[in-house]
Amino acid sequence: MTRDNSESADLVIIGSGPAGLTAATEASSLGLSVLLLDEQEEPGGQIYRGIETAHPKTARLLGPDYQRGAALASAFRASASGYRPGASVWRVDADGTIAYSRDGQAHIVRGKRILVATGAQERPVPIPGWTLPGVMSAGGAQVLLKSAGVVPSGRIIVAGNGPLLLLIAQQLITAGANVAAILETTEFSDYLAAASSLPRAMQAGDYLAKGQRMRHDINAAGIPQYSGVSHLAASGDEKFKQISFESGGMRHTLSADTLLLHAGVVPNTQITRQLDCDHEWVADQRYWQPVLDSWGTTSCDTVAVAGDGGSIIGAEASAIAGRLAALDTARRLGIFNLAERDQRAAPLRGDLARHLAIRPLLDTLFRPDPAFCVPPDDETIVCRCEEVTAGDIRIAVREGAMGPNQLKVFTRCGMGPCQGRMCGLTVSEIIAASRGATLTETGYYRIRPPIKPLTLGELAALDDKFPTE
Ligand SMILES: Cc1cc2nc3c(=O)[nH]c(=O)nc-3n(C[C@H](O)[C@H](O)[C@H](O)COP(=O)(O)OP(=O)(O)OC[C@H]3O[C@@H](n4cnc5c(N)ncnc54)[C@H](O)[C@@H]3O)c2cc1C
Repeated sequence: MTRDNSESADLVIIGSGPAGLTAATEASSLGLSVLLLDEQEEPGGQIYRGIETAHPKTARLLGPDYQRGAALASAFRASASGYRPGASVWRVDADGTIAYSRDGQAHIVRGKRILVATGAQERPVPIPGWTLPGVMSAGGAQVLLKSAGVVPSGRIIVAGNGPLLLLIAQQLITAGANVAAILETTEFSDYLAAASSLPRAMQAGDYLAKGQRMRHDINAAGIPQYSGVSHLAASGDEKFKQISFESGGMRHTLSADTLLLHAGVVPNTQITRQLDCDHEWVADQRYWQPVLDSWGTTSCDTVAVAGDGGSIIGAEASAIAGRLAALDTARRLGIFNLAERDQRAAPLRGDLARHLAIRPLLDTLFRPDPAFCVPPDDETIVCRCEEVTAGDIRIAVREGAMGPNQLKVFTRCGMGPCQGRMCGLTVSEIIAASRGATLTETGYYRIRPPIKPLTLGELAALDDKFPTE
Protein backbone atom coordinates (compact mmCIF):
# COMPACT_ATOMS: atom_id res chain seq x y z
CA MET A 1 0.00 0.00 0.00
CA THR A 2 1.25 3.47 -0.84
CA ARG A 3 1.18 5.82 2.12
CA ASP A 4 2.97 8.88 0.87
CA ASN A 5 1.46 11.46 3.20
CA SER A 6 4.80 13.15 3.74
CA GLU A 7 4.99 14.83 0.34
CA SER A 8 3.82 18.42 0.40
CA ALA A 9 5.02 21.75 -0.96
CA ASP A 10 4.00 25.40 -1.08
CA LEU A 11 3.64 25.14 -4.82
CA VAL A 12 3.10 21.98 -6.85
CA ILE A 13 3.61 22.49 -10.58
CA ILE A 14 2.33 20.07 -13.19
CA GLY A 15 4.33 20.31 -16.41
CA SER A 16 8.01 21.01 -17.09
CA GLY A 17 7.74 23.01 -20.31
CA PRO A 18 8.92 26.63 -20.39
CA ALA A 19 6.02 27.77 -18.13
CA GLY A 20 6.58 25.11 -15.47
CA LEU A 21 10.39 25.44 -15.50
CA THR A 22 10.45 29.23 -15.04
CA ALA A 23 7.69 29.08 -12.42
CA ALA A 24 9.64 26.48 -10.42
CA THR A 25 12.92 28.39 -10.69
CA GLU A 26 11.34 31.72 -9.76
CA ALA A 27 9.21 30.37 -6.91
CA SER A 28 12.08 28.48 -5.30
CA SER A 29 14.36 31.52 -5.61
CA LEU A 30 11.74 33.41 -3.60
CA GLY A 31 11.93 30.85 -0.80
CA LEU A 32 8.87 28.75 -1.59
CA SER A 33 9.08 24.97 -1.43
CA VAL A 34 8.30 23.68 -4.91
CA LEU A 35 7.61 20.26 -6.40
CA LEU A 36 7.44 19.84 -10.15
CA LEU A 37 5.75 16.78 -11.69
CA ASP A 38 5.91 15.79 -15.35
CA GLU A 39 5.15 12.60 -17.20
CA GLN A 40 8.20 13.08 -19.41
CA GLU A 41 11.49 11.65 -18.24
CA GLU A 42 13.33 14.95 -18.48
CA PRO A 43 12.46 18.63 -18.36
CA GLY A 44 11.59 20.62 -21.49
CA GLY A 45 7.91 20.13 -22.33
CA GLN A 46 6.93 20.05 -26.00
CA ILE A 47 9.26 22.64 -27.45
CA TYR A 48 12.39 21.65 -25.49
CA ARG A 49 11.66 17.92 -25.39
CA GLY A 50 14.87 15.97 -24.80
CA ILE A 51 16.91 19.18 -24.43
CA GLU A 52 19.30 17.73 -21.83
CA THR A 53 20.12 14.58 -23.75
CA ALA A 54 19.63 15.53 -27.41
CA HIS A 55 22.48 14.51 -29.69
CA PRO A 56 24.42 17.69 -30.63
CA LYS A 57 23.52 17.04 -34.28
CA THR A 58 19.81 16.94 -33.45
CA ALA A 59 20.08 20.08 -31.30
CA ARG A 60 21.86 21.90 -34.14
CA LEU A 61 19.24 20.79 -36.59
CA LEU A 62 16.40 21.99 -34.35
CA GLY A 63 18.08 25.39 -34.14
CA PRO A 64 18.49 28.21 -31.60
CA ASP A 65 14.79 28.23 -30.60
CA TYR A 66 15.26 24.69 -29.34
CA GLN A 67 18.70 25.23 -27.83
CA ARG A 68 17.32 28.12 -25.75
CA GLY A 69 15.65 25.49 -23.56
CA ALA A 70 19.04 24.34 -22.20
CA ALA A 71 19.38 27.52 -20.12
CA LEU A 72 15.85 27.10 -18.68
CA ALA A 73 16.51 23.47 -17.81
CA SER A 74 19.87 24.17 -16.16
CA ALA A 75 18.47 27.10 -14.14
CA PHE A 76 15.73 24.77 -12.95
CA ARG A 77 18.24 22.02 -12.08
CA ALA A 78 20.29 24.55 -10.12
CA SER A 79 17.23 25.66 -8.16
CA ALA A 80 16.04 24.13 -4.90
CA SER A 81 12.88 22.84 -6.58
CA GLY A 82 11.90 19.21 -6.09
CA TYR A 83 11.32 17.24 -9.28
CA ARG A 84 9.48 14.03 -10.14
CA PRO A 85 10.01 13.10 -13.79
CA GLY A 86 7.96 10.23 -15.20
CA ALA A 87 5.04 11.29 -12.98
CA SER A 88 1.68 11.13 -14.70
CA VAL A 89 -0.93 13.22 -12.88
CA TRP A 90 -4.37 11.61 -12.98
CA ARG A 91 -6.37 13.57 -10.44
CA VAL A 92 -6.27 17.08 -8.97
CA ASP A 93 -8.51 18.45 -6.21
CA ALA A 94 -9.11 22.10 -5.35
CA ASP A 95 -7.83 21.58 -1.79
CA GLY A 96 -4.36 21.03 -3.28
CA THR A 97 -4.36 17.23 -3.40
CA ILE A 98 -2.72 15.79 -6.50
CA ALA A 99 -2.59 12.13 -7.42
CA TYR A 100 0.02 10.83 -9.81
CA SER A 101 1.55 7.55 -10.88
CA ARG A 102 5.22 6.89 -11.30
CA ASP A 103 6.90 3.57 -12.10
CA GLY A 104 3.57 1.76 -11.61
CA GLN A 105 3.08 3.23 -8.14
CA ALA A 106 0.41 5.79 -7.23
CA HIS A 107 1.27 8.72 -4.97
CA ILE A 108 -0.43 11.68 -3.40
CA VAL A 109 1.15 15.09 -2.94
CA ARG A 110 -0.35 18.21 -1.44
CA GLY A 111 0.33 21.81 -2.44
CA LYS A 112 -0.82 25.03 -0.83
CA ARG A 113 -1.17 26.15 -4.41
CA ILE A 114 -1.20 24.30 -7.72
CA LEU A 115 0.16 25.55 -11.02
CA VAL A 116 -1.14 23.72 -14.07
CA ALA A 117 1.48 24.12 -16.82
CA THR A 118 0.36 21.25 -19.00
CA GLY A 119 0.68 23.14 -22.28
CA ALA A 120 -1.01 22.51 -25.56
CA GLN A 121 -2.07 19.54 -27.60
CA GLU A 122 -2.55 19.26 -31.32
CA ARG A 123 -6.05 19.92 -32.62
CA PRO A 124 -7.55 16.68 -33.92
CA VAL A 125 -7.65 16.46 -37.74
CA PRO A 126 -10.50 14.03 -38.39
CA ILE A 127 -10.44 13.42 -42.14
CA PRO A 128 -11.45 10.20 -43.90
CA GLY A 129 -8.65 7.66 -43.37
CA TRP A 130 -6.87 9.51 -40.53
CA THR A 131 -6.80 6.36 -38.42
CA LEU A 132 -4.90 4.31 -41.05
CA PRO A 133 -1.41 3.08 -40.09
CA GLY A 134 1.03 5.47 -41.77
CA VAL A 135 -1.01 8.54 -40.85
CA MET A 136 0.17 10.40 -37.79
CA SER A 137 0.22 13.88 -36.34
CA ALA A 138 3.05 16.13 -37.43
CA GLY A 139 3.73 16.74 -33.73
CA GLY A 140 4.16 12.98 -33.26
CA ALA A 141 6.82 12.96 -35.97
CA GLN A 142 8.54 15.87 -34.25
CA VAL A 143 8.51 13.95 -30.94
CA LEU A 144 10.43 11.14 -32.69
CA LEU A 145 12.92 13.62 -34.09
CA LYS A 146 13.50 15.36 -30.76
CA SER A 147 13.57 12.30 -28.55
CA ALA A 148 15.27 9.75 -30.82
CA GLY A 149 16.70 11.75 -33.72
CA VAL A 150 14.69 9.71 -36.25
CA VAL A 151 12.40 10.70 -39.13
CA PRO A 152 9.82 8.60 -41.00
CA SER A 153 11.28 6.71 -43.95
CA GLY A 154 9.95 6.91 -47.50
CA ARG A 155 7.84 9.66 -49.04
CA ILE A 156 6.19 11.97 -46.52
CA ILE A 157 3.27 14.32 -47.16
CA VAL A 158 2.60 17.08 -44.65
CA ALA A 159 -0.95 18.48 -44.60
CA GLY A 160 -3.02 20.99 -42.65
CA ASN A 161 -2.13 24.47 -41.42
CA GLY A 162 -0.42 26.52 -38.74
CA PRO A 163 3.08 27.79 -37.96
CA LEU A 164 4.02 24.48 -36.36
CA LEU A 165 3.17 22.63 -39.60
CA LEU A 166 5.71 24.77 -41.46
CA LEU A 167 8.28 24.49 -38.67
CA ILE A 168 8.03 20.70 -38.59
CA ALA A 169 8.19 20.50 -42.40
CA GLN A 170 11.34 22.64 -42.30
CA GLN A 171 12.88 20.50 -39.54
CA LEU A 172 12.13 17.27 -41.42
CA ILE A 173 13.64 18.67 -44.61
CA THR A 174 16.77 19.77 -42.72
CA ALA A 175 16.99 16.31 -41.14
CA GLY A 176 17.08 14.79 -44.62
CA ALA A 177 13.57 13.32 -44.65
CA ASN A 178 11.89 12.82 -48.01
CA VAL A 179 9.13 15.43 -47.78
CA ALA A 180 7.27 14.87 -51.05
CA ALA A 181 4.61 17.60 -50.78
CA ILE A 182 3.15 20.18 -48.41
CA LEU A 183 -0.61 20.71 -48.54
CA GLU A 184 -1.85 23.83 -46.77
CA THR A 185 -5.47 24.77 -46.19
CA THR A 186 -4.31 28.40 -45.81
CA GLU A 187 -5.25 30.48 -48.86
CA PHE A 188 -4.49 33.87 -50.34
CA SER A 189 -7.55 35.46 -48.69
CA ASP A 190 -6.13 34.46 -45.26
CA TYR A 191 -2.99 36.48 -46.00
CA LEU A 192 -5.14 39.46 -47.00
CA ALA A 193 -7.19 39.14 -43.79
CA ALA A 194 -4.01 38.95 -41.70
CA ALA A 195 -2.42 41.99 -43.34
CA SER A 196 -4.17 44.43 -40.99
CA SER A 197 -2.39 42.78 -38.03
CA LEU A 198 1.02 43.34 -39.59
CA PRO A 199 1.79 46.74 -37.99
CA ARG A 200 1.29 45.31 -34.50
CA ALA A 201 3.22 42.15 -35.39
CA MET A 202 6.22 44.34 -36.30
CA GLN A 203 6.77 44.76 -32.55
CA ALA A 204 7.70 41.08 -32.61
CA GLY A 205 9.81 41.31 -35.76
CA ASP A 206 11.93 38.28 -34.83
CA TYR A 207 8.86 36.03 -35.26
CA LEU A 208 8.23 37.49 -38.73
CA ALA A 209 11.86 36.89 -39.67
CA LYS A 210 11.58 33.31 -38.42
CA GLY A 211 8.47 32.76 -40.54
CA GLN A 212 10.27 34.11 -43.61
CA ARG A 213 13.20 31.80 -42.99
CA MET A 214 10.91 28.78 -42.75
CA ARG A 215 9.24 29.70 -46.04
CA HIS A 216 12.60 30.30 -47.65
CA ASP A 217 14.00 26.91 -46.57
CA ILE A 218 10.88 25.10 -47.74
CA ASN A 219 10.85 26.92 -51.09
CA ALA A 220 14.58 26.34 -51.56
CA ALA A 221 14.06 22.60 -51.13
CA GLY A 222 11.88 22.68 -54.26
CA ILE A 223 9.11 20.65 -52.65
CA PRO A 224 5.69 20.81 -54.35
CA GLN A 225 3.34 22.97 -52.27
CA TYR A 226 -0.42 23.28 -52.60
CA SER A 227 -2.43 26.06 -50.91
CA GLY A 228 -6.15 26.52 -50.33
CA VAL A 229 -6.39 22.75 -50.00
CA SER A 230 -9.77 21.21 -49.11
CA HIS A 231 -11.61 17.86 -49.09
CA LEU A 232 -8.59 15.92 -47.80
CA ALA A 233 -9.07 12.16 -47.72
CA ALA A 234 -6.43 9.53 -46.93
CA SER A 235 -6.79 6.01 -48.30
CA GLY A 236 -5.06 2.63 -48.48
CA ASP A 237 -5.98 -0.99 -47.75
CA GLU A 238 -3.99 -2.08 -44.72
CA LYS A 239 -1.93 1.08 -44.58
CA PHE A 240 -1.93 4.66 -45.85
CA LYS A 241 -1.11 4.79 -49.57
CA GLN A 242 -2.46 8.03 -50.95
CA ILE A 243 -4.07 11.34 -50.17
CA SER A 244 -6.59 13.04 -52.40
CA PHE A 245 -7.60 16.68 -52.10
CA GLU A 246 -8.84 19.73 -53.97
CA SER A 247 -6.67 22.73 -54.73
CA GLY A 248 -6.92 25.41 -57.44
CA GLY A 249 -10.29 24.02 -58.56
CA MET A 250 -8.83 20.58 -59.35
CA ARG A 251 -8.83 17.19 -57.63
CA HIS A 252 -5.36 15.79 -56.95
CA THR A 253 -4.13 12.42 -55.70
CA LEU A 254 -0.62 11.87 -54.36
CA SER A 255 1.00 8.63 -53.21
CA ALA A 256 3.28 8.46 -50.19
CA ASP A 257 4.35 6.24 -47.30
CA THR A 258 3.52 8.60 -44.44
CA LEU A 259 0.94 11.34 -44.02
CA LEU A 260 1.57 13.91 -41.29
CA LEU A 261 -1.47 15.92 -40.27
CA HIS A 262 -1.54 19.13 -38.24
CA ALA A 263 -4.12 21.89 -37.75
CA GLY A 264 -2.67 24.01 -34.97
CA VAL A 265 -2.55 23.53 -31.23
CA VAL A 266 -5.18 24.09 -28.54
CA PRO A 267 -4.91 24.38 -24.75
CA ASN A 268 -4.80 21.07 -22.89
CA THR A 269 -7.69 21.65 -20.47
CA GLN A 270 -8.04 18.15 -19.01
CA ILE A 271 -6.96 19.16 -15.50
CA THR A 272 -8.85 22.47 -15.33
CA ARG A 273 -11.92 20.66 -16.69
CA GLN A 274 -11.55 17.86 -14.15
CA LEU A 275 -11.38 20.59 -11.49
CA ASP A 276 -14.56 22.11 -12.93
CA CYS A 277 -12.92 25.52 -13.38
CA ASP A 278 -14.77 28.02 -15.59
CA HIS A 279 -13.87 27.85 -19.28
CA GLU A 280 -14.69 30.10 -22.22
CA TRP A 281 -15.02 29.45 -25.93
CA VAL A 282 -12.55 31.33 -28.14
CA ALA A 283 -14.55 31.71 -31.33
CA ASP A 284 -11.84 32.69 -33.82
CA GLN A 285 -9.42 29.95 -32.76
CA ARG A 286 -12.25 27.49 -32.00
CA TYR A 287 -10.97 26.16 -28.69
CA TRP A 288 -11.81 26.27 -25.01
CA GLN A 289 -9.57 27.99 -22.53
CA PRO A 290 -9.83 28.34 -18.74
CA VAL A 291 -10.99 31.75 -17.52
CA LEU A 292 -7.90 33.31 -15.87
CA ASP A 293 -6.98 36.58 -14.21
CA SER A 294 -3.84 38.37 -15.36
CA TRP A 295 -1.68 36.21 -13.02
CA GLY A 296 -3.12 32.94 -14.28
CA THR A 297 -5.49 32.23 -11.39
CA THR A 298 -8.53 30.18 -12.39
CA SER A 299 -12.07 30.42 -11.00
CA CYS A 300 -10.75 28.01 -8.37
CA ASP A 301 -8.59 30.22 -6.14
CA THR A 302 -5.97 27.62 -5.25
CA VAL A 303 -5.21 26.76 -8.86
CA ALA A 304 -3.40 28.82 -11.48
CA VAL A 305 -2.52 28.04 -15.08
CA ALA A 306 0.55 29.29 -16.97
CA GLY A 307 1.58 28.82 -20.58
CA ASP A 308 -0.25 27.33 -23.52
CA GLY A 309 -2.67 25.51 -21.19
CA GLY A 310 -4.25 28.91 -20.50
CA SER A 311 -4.31 30.20 -24.07
CA ILE A 312 -2.01 29.57 -27.02
CA ILE A 313 0.74 32.14 -26.52
CA GLY A 314 3.95 30.34 -27.58
CA ALA A 315 7.03 29.23 -25.70
CA GLU A 316 8.62 32.55 -24.81
CA ALA A 317 5.38 34.07 -23.55
CA SER A 318 4.74 30.82 -21.63
CA ALA A 319 8.07 31.21 -19.86
CA ILE A 320 7.06 34.73 -18.78
CA ALA A 321 3.60 33.57 -17.69
CA GLY A 322 5.26 30.96 -15.47
CA ARG A 323 7.26 33.65 -13.68
CA LEU A 324 4.19 35.85 -13.23
CA ALA A 325 2.25 32.96 -11.68
CA ALA A 326 5.20 32.31 -9.33
CA LEU A 327 5.27 35.96 -8.23
CA ASP A 328 1.56 35.91 -7.49
CA THR A 329 1.91 32.66 -5.56
CA ALA A 330 4.67 34.24 -3.45
CA ARG A 331 2.39 37.18 -2.75
CA ARG A 332 -0.50 34.91 -1.79
CA LEU A 333 1.72 32.88 0.53
CA GLY A 334 2.95 36.02 2.29
CA ILE A 335 6.48 36.35 0.86
CA PHE A 336 5.76 39.93 -0.24
CA ASN A 337 2.87 42.33 -0.73
CA LEU A 338 0.89 43.40 -3.78
CA ALA A 339 3.09 46.44 -4.46
CA GLU A 340 6.26 44.37 -4.52
CA ARG A 341 4.65 41.72 -6.70
CA ASP A 342 3.59 44.37 -9.20
CA GLN A 343 6.99 46.04 -9.16
CA ARG A 344 8.76 42.74 -9.87
CA ALA A 345 6.23 41.91 -12.57
CA ALA A 346 6.43 45.23 -14.46
CA PRO A 347 9.39 44.40 -16.75
CA LEU A 348 7.94 40.94 -17.40
CA ARG A 349 4.63 42.46 -18.49
CA GLY A 350 6.45 44.59 -21.08
CA ASP A 351 8.21 41.53 -22.50
CA LEU A 352 4.96 39.57 -22.50
CA ALA A 353 3.16 42.26 -24.51
CA ARG A 354 5.95 42.20 -27.10
CA HIS A 355 5.73 38.42 -27.54
CA LEU A 356 1.94 38.53 -27.71
CA ALA A 357 2.04 41.16 -30.48
CA ILE A 358 2.48 38.37 -33.05
CA ARG A 359 -0.67 36.47 -31.99
CA PRO A 360 -3.39 38.43 -33.88
CA LEU A 361 -1.48 37.92 -37.13
CA LEU A 362 -0.92 34.20 -36.54
CA ASP A 363 -4.49 33.67 -35.32
CA THR A 364 -5.98 35.34 -38.40
CA LEU A 365 -3.62 33.76 -40.91
CA PHE A 366 -4.00 30.26 -39.50
CA ARG A 367 -7.69 30.09 -38.65
CA PRO A 368 -8.82 26.51 -38.13
CA ASP A 369 -10.33 25.00 -41.25
CA PRO A 370 -14.10 24.41 -40.71
CA ALA A 371 -13.83 20.93 -42.25
CA PHE A 372 -11.32 19.93 -39.54
CA CYS A 373 -13.72 21.17 -36.85
CA VAL A 374 -16.91 19.56 -38.18
CA PRO A 375 -16.00 16.62 -40.45
CA PRO A 376 -18.57 16.66 -43.27
CA ASP A 377 -18.25 12.93 -44.08
CA ASP A 378 -20.41 10.69 -41.86
CA GLU A 379 -17.94 7.79 -42.12
CA THR A 380 -15.06 9.73 -40.55
CA ILE A 381 -14.05 8.38 -37.15
CA VAL A 382 -14.16 11.03 -34.43
CA CYS A 383 -13.57 9.09 -31.19
CA ARG A 384 -10.61 6.85 -31.97
CA CYS A 385 -10.76 4.99 -28.65
CA GLU A 386 -14.39 3.84 -29.06
CA GLU A 387 -14.49 4.06 -32.90
CA VAL A 388 -17.46 6.43 -33.01
CA THR A 389 -18.01 8.18 -36.36
CA ALA A 390 -19.31 11.66 -37.19
CA GLY A 391 -22.44 9.94 -38.54
CA ASP A 392 -22.98 8.07 -35.23
CA ILE A 393 -22.84 11.41 -33.41
CA ARG A 394 -25.31 13.05 -35.80
CA ILE A 395 -27.74 10.13 -35.37
CA ALA A 396 -27.45 10.37 -31.57
CA VAL A 397 -28.21 14.10 -31.74
CA ARG A 398 -31.30 13.38 -33.86
CA GLU A 399 -32.32 10.80 -31.26
CA GLY A 400 -32.06 13.39 -28.46
CA ALA A 401 -28.45 13.68 -27.28
CA MET A 402 -28.37 17.40 -26.51
CA GLY A 403 -24.74 17.68 -25.37
CA PRO A 404 -21.41 15.85 -25.08
CA ASN A 405 -22.24 14.18 -21.76
CA GLN A 406 -25.51 12.70 -23.00
CA LEU A 407 -23.66 11.58 -26.11
CA LYS A 408 -21.46 9.39 -23.91
CA VAL A 409 -24.53 7.41 -22.86
CA PHE A 410 -25.71 7.05 -26.45
CA THR A 411 -22.37 6.10 -28.04
CA ARG A 412 -19.58 5.65 -25.42
CA CYS A 413 -17.83 8.53 -27.26
CA GLY A 414 -15.10 10.02 -25.04
CA MET A 415 -15.13 7.11 -22.60
CA GLY A 416 -11.94 5.40 -23.76
CA PRO A 417 -8.40 5.63 -22.41
CA CYS A 418 -7.85 9.24 -23.57
CA GLN A 419 -10.98 10.36 -21.68
CA GLY A 420 -12.15 12.60 -24.51
CA ARG A 421 -8.85 14.44 -24.89
CA MET A 422 -8.65 13.61 -28.60
CA CYS A 423 -12.31 13.91 -29.60
CA GLY A 424 -13.78 16.48 -27.17
CA LEU A 425 -13.46 19.51 -29.44
CA THR A 426 -14.83 17.75 -32.50
CA VAL A 427 -17.74 16.26 -30.56
CA SER A 428 -18.85 19.65 -29.22
CA GLU A 429 -18.51 21.18 -32.69
CA ILE A 430 -20.56 18.45 -34.40
CA ILE A 431 -23.31 18.62 -31.79
CA ALA A 432 -23.44 22.42 -31.98
CA ALA A 433 -23.58 22.36 -35.79
CA SER A 434 -26.25 19.63 -35.83
CA ARG A 435 -28.45 21.44 -33.30
CA GLY A 436 -27.82 24.93 -34.64
CA ALA A 437 -26.61 25.84 -31.15
CA THR A 438 -23.57 27.84 -30.04
CA LEU A 439 -20.56 26.11 -28.55
CA THR A 440 -21.21 27.82 -25.23
CA GLU A 441 -24.73 26.39 -25.18
CA THR A 442 -23.43 22.98 -26.20
CA GLY A 443 -20.62 22.80 -23.65
CA TYR A 444 -17.92 20.18 -23.25
CA TYR A 445 -17.43 16.78 -21.65
CA ARG A 446 -17.45 16.69 -17.89
CA ILE A 447 -13.97 15.30 -17.30
CA ARG A 448 -13.69 12.87 -14.42
CA PRO A 449 -10.62 11.34 -12.82
CA PRO A 450 -8.57 9.42 -13.60
CA ILE A 451 -7.60 11.66 -16.51
CA LYS A 452 -4.73 9.31 -17.37
CA PRO A 453 -4.92 5.53 -17.50
CA LEU A 454 -3.91 3.80 -14.27
CA THR A 455 -4.27 0.24 -13.09
CA LEU A 456 -6.83 -0.91 -10.55
CA GLY A 457 -3.93 -2.10 -8.42
CA GLU A 458 -2.49 1.42 -8.27
CA LEU A 459 -5.88 2.86 -7.38
CA ALA A 460 -6.65 0.24 -4.76
CA ALA A 461 -3.31 0.84 -3.07
CA LEU A 462 -4.35 4.38 -2.19
CA ASP A 463 -6.34 4.95 1.00
CA ASP A 464 -8.90 7.65 1.82
CA LYS A 465 -6.79 10.68 1.10
CA PHE A 466 -9.14 12.44 -1.30
CA PRO A 467 -11.66 15.05 -0.19
CA THR A 468 -15.17 13.60 -0.20
CA GLU A 469 -17.01 14.29 -3.46
C1 LIG B 1 3.32 18.26 -30.17
C2 LIG B 1 3.73 19.70 -30.01
C3 LIG B 1 4.97 20.12 -30.46
C4 LIG B 1 5.35 21.46 -30.32
N1 LIG B 1 6.58 21.84 -30.81
C5 LIG B 1 6.91 23.15 -30.78
C6 LIG B 1 8.14 23.60 -31.33
O1 LIG B 1 8.94 22.82 -31.82
N2 LIG B 1 8.41 24.92 -31.30
C7 LIG B 1 7.54 25.83 -30.76
O2 LIG B 1 7.82 27.03 -30.76
N3 LIG B 1 6.38 25.42 -30.21
C8 LIG B 1 6.05 24.12 -30.21
N4 LIG B 1 4.86 23.71 -29.69
C9 LIG B 1 4.03 24.70 -29.03
C10 LIG B 1 4.64 24.69 -27.63
O3 LIG B 1 4.25 23.53 -26.94
C11 LIG B 1 4.47 25.79 -26.73
O4 LIG B 1 4.30 27.06 -27.18
C12 LIG B 1 5.29 25.73 -25.45
O5 LIG B 1 6.04 24.56 -25.31
C13 LIG B 1 4.27 25.82 -24.34
O6 LIG B 1 4.92 25.68 -23.14
P1 LIG B 1 4.16 25.17 -21.85
O7 LIG B 1 5.14 25.28 -20.74
O8 LIG B 1 2.87 25.87 -21.70
O9 LIG B 1 3.80 23.65 -22.11
P2 LIG B 1 4.57 22.42 -22.72
O10 LIG B 1 5.90 22.78 -23.24
O11 LIG B 1 3.63 21.78 -23.64
O12 LIG B 1 4.79 21.47 -21.46
C14 LIG B 1 3.71 20.83 -20.85
C15 LIG B 1 4.22 19.67 -20.04
O13 LIG B 1 3.16 19.17 -19.25
C16 LIG B 1 3.30 17.77 -19.15
N5 LIG B 1 1.99 17.19 -18.83
C17 LIG B 1 0.81 17.37 -19.47
N6 LIG B 1 -0.18 16.69 -18.84
C18 LIG B 1 0.40 16.05 -17.79
C19 LIG B 1 -0.10 15.20 -16.77
N7 LIG B 1 -1.41 14.87 -16.67
N8 LIG B 1 0.78 14.71 -15.85
C20 LIG B 1 2.10 15.05 -15.89
N9 LIG B 1 2.62 15.88 -16.84
C21 LIG B 1 1.78 16.37 -17.77
C22 LIG B 1 3.81 17.34 -20.51
O14 LIG B 1 4.51 16.12 -20.43
C23 LIG B 1 4.73 18.52 -20.88
O15 LIG B 1 6.06 18.24 -20.54
C24 LIG B 1 4.46 22.38 -29.76
C25 LIG B 1 3.21 21.96 -29.29
C26 LIG B 1 2.84 20.63 -29.41
C27 LIG B 1 1.48 20.19 -28.92
